[in-house]
Amino acid sequence: MGRAADWLREHSWALGLFAAAVLLWGLLAALIPPRVVPMPISATSSPGPFATLDVFTAQRREMVRTQIRARGISDEVVLKAMEKVPRHLFVPEQYQAEAYADHPLPIGEGQTISQPYVVALMTELLALEPSDRVLEIGTGSGYQAAVLAEIANEVYTVEIIESLGRTAASRLQTLGYRNIRTRLGDGYYGWEENAPYDAIIVTAAPDHIPQPLIRQLKDGGRLVIPVGPPGAVQTLWRVEKYGDQVISHNEGEVRFVPLVRP
Ligand code: SAH
Repeated sequence: MGRAADWLREHSWALGLFAAAVLLWGLLAALIPPRVVPMPISATSSPGPFATLDVFTAQRREMVRTQIRARGISDEVVLKAMEKVPRHLFVPEQYQAEAYADHPLPIGEGQTISQPYVVALMTELLALEPSDRVLEIGTGSGYQAAVLAEIANEVYTVEIIESLGRTAASRLQTLGYRNIRTRLGDGYYGWEENAPYDAIIVTAAPDHIPQPLIRQLKDGGRLVIPVGPPGAVQTLWRVEKYGDQVISHNEGEVRFVPLVRP
């Protein structure tokens, strides 16, 4: 015992120095941020927490290349938006693996998220400018609204089914879309308070073009809308408004859920 105490006394200066070094080390570690080492993309393709994220990114690129660009969509702004929006986060979990496939998917309440190509086609037909204010009728999952929000300045979207509207609103909020405003209601009447719009897109099919939507278009504004009987094939129209004149162009056949009226 005595000898150990003597040893400690004799070496107290060394112990003090050691304690000071440990303290300094701790202090430096807390103050200096860790160096972030960038990881090459290939390193994340092995199984791990980021592997699924990477798979979806690859699927999204493939979707744009084979389903959208290959079918003639050439607006780079649209292609970039389609490549960016994480479509798998807009579908129910059991359909995530199919999120980038070439067809629509169920989103609940008997409704569907449109096929990726149709979303891209309708977006391109709107001929959006970065400063544009856009109205969407039929929020559904919120996916089309997100694509619009990547391109235009302000997006307004109206949904008639409460549960879908609420889910989409919180999803868009979580994903950080600050330029989208959502509303519950009958989109047949548009959204008067924010009119006029540079562009309006309708993602459910009425059997005629709602006149309130034409009224809420700016001069020179564009409306893209499927029109036709419910349950059948409808015609996709691109309508341009010039003063009291409207010019309609048939853009081919599409199939949408009906625009329902309360
Ligand atoms: N754009 C959506 C898909 C639309 S599915 C997306 O990207 O996921 C069509 C949507 O239109 C459905 O959610 C349906 O509830 C909604 N809808 C049908 N009639 C409507 C109406 N009168 N007003 C607003 N929304 C309507």
